[in-house]
Amino acid sequence: MTSSTETNFLGSVRSMFDRAARALAVPSDLVEAIRECNSVIQLRFPVRLRGGYRTFCGWRAVHSEHRLPVKGGIRFAPIVDQQEVEALASLMTFKCALVDVPFGGAKGGLAIRPRDYTEDELELITRRFTQELADHGYIGPSRDVPAPDMGTGEREMAWMADEYRALYPSDIDALACVTGKPVTQGGIPYRRQATGSGVHYVVREFFAHPEDVARTGLDGGLEGKAVIVQGFGNVGFNTARYLVEEEGVRLVGVIERDGAILSDAGLAPDDVAEHRRETRGVKGFPGARFVADGGSVLAADCDILVPAAAENQVTMDNAARIAAPLIVEAANGPVSFAAERTLLERGKVILPDLLVNAGGVTVSYFEWVSNVSHMRFGRLSRRLDVQRNRHIVEMIEAATGKPVPDALKAPLLRGNEEIDLIRAGLEDTMRDAYRATRETMLASPAIDDLRTAAFACALEKVVRSYREMGLA
Ligand code: NAD
Repeated sequence: MTSSTETNFLGSVRSMFDRAARALAVPSDLVEAIRECNSVIQLRFPVRLRGGYRTFCGWRAVHSEHRLPVKGGIRFAPIVDQQEVEALASLMTFKCALVDVPFGGAKGGLAIRPRDYTEDELELITRRFTQELADHGYIGPSRDVPAPDMGTGEREMAWMADEYRALYPSDIDALACVTGKPVTQGGIPYRRQATGSGVHYVVREFFAHPEDVARTGLDGGLEGKAVIVQGFGNVGFNTARYLVEEEGVRLVGVIERDGAILSDAGLAPDDVAEHRRETRGVKGFPGARFVADGGSVLAADCDILVPAAAENQVTMDNAARIAAPLIVEAANGPVSFAAERTLLERGKVILPDLLVNAGGVTVSYFEWVSNVSHMRFGRLSRRLDVQRNRHIVEMIEAATGKPVPDALKAPLLRGNEEIDLIRAGLEDTMRDAYRATRETMLASPAIDDLRTAAFACALEKVVRSYREMGLA
């Protein structure tokens, strides 16, 4: 969906980086050192399938190793190519820096339409891709750690981890070679929901600052706001679910590959997700109006537009028609650089991808830490926390002569499960990242949008790290 006057995704990311580097007055030699990917590999490999050979093509790009391991998802989609993987790898560097996750940026992709293959075939292809990545040093717990992205999930991560472990049986940390694994295979609770949950935390923090909300022309809190989500996969569904269930927003539209559904009364995220699982689309969802040209619904009336599908969805072709005053980039790169200028001129506010969807890599970081420490979070401290809380409750009861009500006592005496710690860590990270971003914007006369502020905030940390390591 790009007009010929626009640069591609990689061009957009480079332009966004350049704008932040100019605002920070980063010296040109450092800009040169940081801007491009440090290495990119193209892997072509045959797999014996259906009585013959099929050749597949994949890529892995490493943007920056200023922190190790490098980290970034693996995408399975027919549209994957080298420039897309490079663009996503550089976004990962700045995303990790923004949320203080000590990883460099990387990204991978395999040009494949998963639905064209059976599960057994996909397993064979994924395992072979893992061997190729391992052969070339593009996977490993201390080196390069993939995660799920579009078209991949826990299943693929489990195959990759198992294949890596078979290749390196004496590596005690082998399971940490990928994140986003099933909980029973070294994964961590809440990773599946993490990206959408992080989107929710950022949006909630944005609405906690009335002066920020005022820039959109919206007023009041999140409750009742009309939201349209594009892409109802992992990120889109979980974002919608948390916004509806915890904030009371109205999900008035869902855009999928086969079209869009609209309902003023609001759609139930779980029901839409189930319909999508059963039918592979949204068409035929009961009680909603179907629009065959799904892309046109990006421009429909709503308060908040959440593109959660793919890059380059809002371009010069439709930027002038976008009605939503607030655009929340749950996907990577959904708004092109050129379109962003048009949107900002029209007074729209964009919460940028590197901030908004950083919840995934944040919880992936927790998973990796748990894998390399070989212990789940809270295992050592939970019993002590409960004992201390019991003492406090007893002291309050002794001092007041009254029992503490059960509703207040119960959570204190239950103690924190691992999932509670992860959710709290994620919420804290996303709130801090939003605050740091807005403060950077407010403090810098050269910056007047949140994307440049997020890039600048992250770039400052990367530059500092290059300088301290003596790389510059
Ligand atoms: P997914 O494969 O689970 O879901 C993507 C959904 O978008 C699918 O339902 C697909 O049918 C739909 N879709 C694709 N192209 C579309 C189009 N043109 N119009 C309408 N619908 C379309 O993928 P995901 O993991 O949810 O990733 C979505 C986006 O979020 C990607 O940009 C990805 O890079 C980004 N992201 C994902 C994670 C994560 O943890 N999964 C983390 C950070 C960023």
